[in-house]
Order: sequence, then structure tokens, then C-alpha cells
Amino acid sequence: MNTVICPGTFDPPTNGHLNIIERAMQIFERVIVLVAGNAAKQPLLTTDERVALLCALYRDRRGIEIDRTDGLIVTYAQRRQVRTLLRGIRNMSDYEFEFQMALANKAMYPGCETLFLMTEGRYSHLSSGIIKEVIRHGGQASEMVHPLVEAALRKKLRQEG
Ligand code: ADP
Repeated sequence: MNTVICPGTFDPPTNGHLNIIERAMQIFERVIVLVAGNAAKQPLLTTDERVALLCALYRDRRGIEIDRTDGLIVTYAQRRQVRTLLRGIRNMSDYEFEFQMALANKAMYPGCETLFLMTEGRYSHLSSGIIKEVIRHGGQASEMVHPLVEAALRKKLRQEG
């Protein structure tokens, strides 16, 4: 089966992520959106919350699965016998990071290819980090995230005080 994994932290999922996932759906029969840990990031939303948001966004969509891993993405991919990973690229600093990550993943799982989609221009400024800052400071985020995501973020930030 023509399956791809779209891995990420998704803290929170942004309209930039959703655009990559939608475009992946045009190319692949099955898309696994994989919520993964990232030791370099201290997520605001728990893994359960990020998975629940993605499940709510893609409820009733055929060909899409939401899953999670606490381990390496390549370990997950091998276990699921998936040989393609898809990542988005916004700018040169994404490129440098992604280049290194793709080479590391290739060394660990030679049968696996990482493919890249360039962001669409209107999403190139979007990152999960920027959106959290905008909402934290009372800004308008409706163009950046789905309303469900915005509501979940506002609730979480209120709880955090
Ligand atoms: P990670 O912590 O693994 O980088 P992210 O959740 O930040 O996870 O991003 C997941 C993937 O989505 C990465 O490939 C990232 O480059 C891509 N991405 C994030 N924001 C955008 C955007 N606005 N447009 C296109 N791709 C994006």
C-alpha cells in the first residue's frame, strides 16, 4: 500500500501542518500523522492532547490515521513497514535541520526515503512556536490555526495562568 508517515511534534498543529497533510493525501493512499516526542522541545500540550486534536480535525476522513510514538520515527516506520516519510520545509534553517535528520534516518533505516514538500507561501511564516506566542499575548490566530486548535490552546494557557 502506498503509505506515508508525516511525523512532527504538532504543538499545536497549525494550518501549515494541515496544508502538508492535505497535500500528502493527494499523493498517497494512506497518511499516518505521527505525533512524536522531541527532546529539544518542551511541549505545551501533552501528547494525548495533540493526538486528540488531530483526531478531531480528521474525524471521518478516510485514508488518514493518527498515531504516536515515544521512540524514534524510523523504529516506528520499520515496525509499521512504511518506507516513506514526508516533511515540510519553510526556509533554509528548516532545510539544514531536515537534511541532517534525513541522513540520520537513512543511516538507521536504509530502505526508507524522506520526501519534502515546500510550504505554500501563505504558510511560510507559521510555526507552532509563533502561534503560542500570539495566543499567549492575546493576538488574533484565526488565520493560523483551526478554531478547535485555537480554543484548546486558549484553554490550556488559561489553566497555566
Ligand atoms: P518537529 O518538532 O518534528 O520539527 P513540527 O511539528 O514543528 O515538528 O513540524 C513538523 C513538520 O511540519 C516539519 O517537517 C516542519 O518543517 C513542517 N512544518 C511546520 N510548519 C510548517 C509550515 N508552516 N509549512 C510547511 N511545513 C511546516
